Parts: sequence; C-alpha cells; structure tokens
Amino acid sequence: MYDSHLHTPLCKHARGALPEYLEAARKRGLAGVVFTDHNPMPAWFDPGSRMSPEQLPLYHSLVAQLRQDDDFYIGIGLEADFHPGAGEYVRRQIADFPYDYVIGSVHYIGAWPFDHPDYQDEFERRDRMEVYADYYGQVYAAAEAGIFDAIGHLDLPKKFGHVPPEEAWDLVEGVLEVIRNADLALDVNTAGWRKPIGELYPAPQIIKRAGELGIPVVLGSDAHAPEEVAWRFGDAVEVLLQAGYREAWVFKNRRPEPYPLERA
Ligand SMILES: [Zn+2]
Ligand SMILES: [Zn+2]
Repeated sequence: MYDSHLHTPLCKHARGALPEYLEAARKRGLAGVVFTDHNPMPAWFDPGSRMSPEQLPLYHSLVAQLRQDDDFYIGIGLEADFHPGAGEYVRRQIADFPYDYVIGSVHYIGAWPFDHPDYQDEFERRDRMEVYADYYGQVYAAAEAGIFDAIGHLDLPKKFGHVPPEEAWDLVEGVLEVIRNADLALDVNTAGWRKPIGELYPAPQIIKRAGELGIPVVLGSDAHAPEEVAWRFGDAVEVLLQAGYREAWVFKNRRPEPYPLERA
C-alpha cells in the first residue's frame, strides 16, 4: 500500500522532519509514499497555510534527498488549492516541474476558509444547502479544469460535524459524474477519522457510488505529523472492499499504477 497524501512542516501547520514521515511509513509496511504538501499560491491567497513560492525548490530538494537505492517509492506531488482567479497560476506551477501526483482541493468558499477551526461559526450564518452548493460548485470547476490527477477530500465541509443535507446528494452525483468524465481519481482520505466528524473522506455512501461509476481511488492519510502516516488504512481498505473496490492507484510521473487492496 501507498500513502499518497503527506504534508511537511513547510506548510507551517505540520510537524516532524521528512525522514520521520518516511520512517513511520516503512514501519507500517507501506510500499511507498507521495509527499503532497500545500502548494504555493498567489500572494493574496492564504500565505499562512503553505510554503512560499521561494520555498518550492527547497521542497523539491528535501524530497529528492530522501530517495534511496531501494524498492521503497518516494513520489513528489502537491495538494493544490483550486480557487477562482488562481487556476492559471496553479496550472503553470504544475507544468513547471515533473511532479508525480497532484491533488486538487477546495478549502475556501469565497474568502471563507470553511474547514479552519477558527471560522466554524460562519456555518450558523449560512444555509447549509447553500454552503454545499457553493462548495460543490467549486469542486465541479476543479474537476473540469484539467489540471489535477485527483480531487481531495470530496466532502470536506463536514469536518466539524456540519453534515450535508439530504438534498445535497444530487450535487454529489453531478460532481462524481464530472470526476469520472474527466478521468480523475478520488483522494480517499483517512484524516476525517481524526476530526470531529469521525468519518472517512468521502463518506462510505459516496465511495460506494464512485465505485459504481468506475472512479478510481488513491489512498492517503493527509498526515500533518509522522504518527499520522497510514492512519487507519486497514479501516479504509475495509470500506473500499465493501464498496466493491479491488484496487487503488498510486501515481508515478502523473501516471496511475494500480495495486491490489488487501486486508492486513
Ligand atoms: Zn494542511
Ligand atoms: Zn486539504
């Protein structure tokens, strides 16, 4: 198995040196990892949660230094924000370096970082359906942008317990269709099990539907600390097997490589 969603301290809200992440991955018996730290964005967008553009070469070299002459795979990627007005910036950034894997994620609705713990009271001021409609509208655009390999944590607004209303299901269906039509994969992300919602991203019923539509999955822990590497991967595999999945993908050089999902 591979953990294809790892952060590094360069993003300013993760801890632990890169070799510690690697050591944890090897200890858990993984076949490899892909580092996907938060990408640099234009200066006006959330500079406190990501490396600066000047640090990008450092990120590339820190990951390159980890590579050893053995079978353990160490990929380099980005978790890239998709935000109105920044699409072309991100497109150029990704074209400029031979990344292995790029996740497209939506963390903002307009100026509101809806998954940030300090700004959860905004949910009380907004209609829940409107929040999900705005969010999935952005995800839809991210999927259609032709920039990414996978869509990150598909139902992120639920993070602090703000679950989607029943009517939001139609939006999910629409987004899954565009994900499939764009040949994108889904980031199956175990961080949700470390958050108040206590549920996998995306929810098991979304994974089930994604499976019916033939959408491939990429397993990731979204680790922001070494001990979070491969977080509850056994449980995630169980959810995937029950949804009918038999394999997951790891990306190398932006190309998917399937590997079998097996109970530990
Ligand atoms: Zn983060
Ligand atoms: Zn994210």
